[in-house]
Amino acid sequence: QVPLKPGRSLMDWIRLTKSGKDLTGLKGRLLEVTEDELSKHNKKEDCWICIRGFVYNVTPYMEYHPGGEDELMKAAGADGTDLFDQVHRWVNYESMLKECLVGRMAVKPCAALKGELLFHISHQIPEDEILVKLKTFIILVVLSELLTLNLVFKSTNYDWFQTDSLITIVIYTKQKDMNADLVIVDCQDKQLRGEIIMDDHSYLVEIDLDHAVSEDVAVNIAERVGKVEIILKKKDNVHWKNLGQPSEGHNTFIKRTDRGLFYRKCKLVSKTEVTHDTKLFCLMLPKGTHLRVPTGQHVYLKHIVAGTEVVKPYTPVLPFLPLDFQEPPCHDGVHIYLMIKIYSHGLFTQALDHLQIGDYISVSNPEGNFKKSQVQTSEDLLLLAGGTGFTPMVKLLNLALTEVSCLRTVKLIFFNKTEDDILWRNQLEQLALKDERFEVQFILSQPSKDWIGKQGKISPSLLSEFVKRSRRDSKVLICICGPAPFTEQGVQYLKDLGYSQEEIHAFTA
Ligand code: FAD
Ligand code: NAP
Repeated sequence: QVPLKPGRSLMDWIRLTKSGKDLTGLKGRLLEVTEDELSKHNKKEDCWICIRGFVYNVTPYMEYHPGGEDELMKAAGADGTDLFDQVHRWVNYESMLKECLVGRMAVKPCAALKGELLFHISHQIPEDEILVKLKTFIILVVLSELLTLNLVFKSTNYDWFQTDSLITIVIYTKQKDMNADLVIVDCQDKQLRGEIIMDDHSYLVEIDLDHAVSEDVAVNIAERVGKVEIILKKKDNVHWKNLGQPSEGHNTFIKRTDRGLFYRKCKLVSKTEVTHDTKLFCLMLPKGTHLRVPTGQHVYLKHIVAGTEVVKPYTPVLPFLPLDFQEPPCHDGVHIYLMIKIYSHGLFTQALDHLQIGDYISVSNPEGNFKKSQVQTSEDLLLLAGGTGFTPMVKLLNLALTEVSCLRTVKLIFFNKTEDDILWRNQLEQLALKDERFEVQFILSQPSKDWIGKQGKISPSLLSEFVKRSRRDSKVLICICGPAPFTEQGVQYLKDLGYSQEEIHAFTA
């Protein structure tokens, strides 16, 4: 993120888009844009970008882009889809850039190649060059046909059967170590959507069911053989002739980044204070949803703010840390807990703070690239958190202290501005007393004069003081999360101290 000029916040952008001003300069016309035309609009004062086949004039948006003008200019006059997907595929650009829409791209790559071929033939270009182009063209056409028919790269398939009262959909993933975190099911009314995560791909079953089912959905997993069963209860005990009408994405196995984010509406059931500006929100999943957010992953919340859909990421926590005298943290699969700092000028958090108990908010499927196995094979776990960068550490602490027996030391180094900002200080201190493997160090950047603990900002000297291996050759994992510059600097200092890339995990968007 870069500092934006005053009057250039997301809220200001939303206001501008609603002002009726002609932001494309086309007076409401939509164009068919050729690649040649697109490439001409490559300057800051005249900048068009293509995302998923749609072309936007982003010049009016330049000063409002949180990532800065230079980031946007990387895709000026070109297809920015890959760049966009790498950085923020979750941003609802269709809604944010609606008023900047110039039109659609006119030609598809295959058609363009075909055109080029004809050009080569008609202009007597040497034969071997034409041959290469021709081969590429044929491969592209065959591949795209096969992909449409879903015949390539897909070994997962499904089957279904019924009894008088139940419908069972069986998915054979052929993947070992399948588990409940990897299966996301939503069944509302007659719509069934089941997504099975397999590394960076996912398999989807999406059907408009033939008959009504109750909201009680069960998921059974045979972990070792990778078989997943989705069991639905029939509302009427009639015999189904077929399962239902498949949707476009049904029975596909594709890259997760190529699937749109799926959201379901969750009910706000409680909101409790954690500190003067941070609250614990408890959301309840709909009855027909089976969703667990794995350790180290985040979800996206979507809400309409000032008439525009706004999406922001949040990392689910547990209701409390693993302390004996409390119930074990509930993995009831029904509630999602979010610890959220409310910013006095924050666009989204102000809207969240105004939600009433019983209100609904949309929650996405989980995302993130952290793997549990990174902790399960470590002997020393070091967690560096800045402010709400503490949130991924909550599930990590729970996992480390309750499930990983090879861990010898777990240390949290928690950076905050003041004592009042420290999240769950009491619980952290109690956890340190309870479990001798766990140690917590609070470091304040703006302490009051009464603070007798450590003070300062993340720095090489503070890190070399607190980040240490318990043995010379012990296997270490260092996780870091906080404001973006905090995380970036922290990673650099750790590398300077001799820790390798594999030993560091930085939580980012
Ligand atoms: P914004 O409107 O974005 O503003 C936030 C503050 O920054 C305000 O004070 C605003 O005035 C100021 N500001 C905004 N943009 C600029 C700018 N360009 N220049 C100068 N000042 C600016 N947060 C949590 O509380 N809990 C979580 O669990 C959590 N998880 C996250 C997980 C991930 C993967 C990521 C990337 C972020 C996470 N966040 C979390 C942060 C969260 O997504 C939002 O960024 C945060 O809630 C602020 O949103 P907002 O719309 O209210 O604030
Ligand atoms: P904060 O209270 O503003 O800051 C926490 C600590 O970090 C303070 O000591 C602060 O010191 C220090 N800090 C802030 N900016 C710094 C910088 N540029 N260099 C070095 N130290 C810096 O933090 P917050 O408001 O809670 O914000 C937490 C951040 O974590 C948000 O940006 C959020 O997006 C991010 N987050 C990310 C994830 C994820 O998974 N990626 C999850 C949760 C939260 P001073 O301000 O006094 O300098």
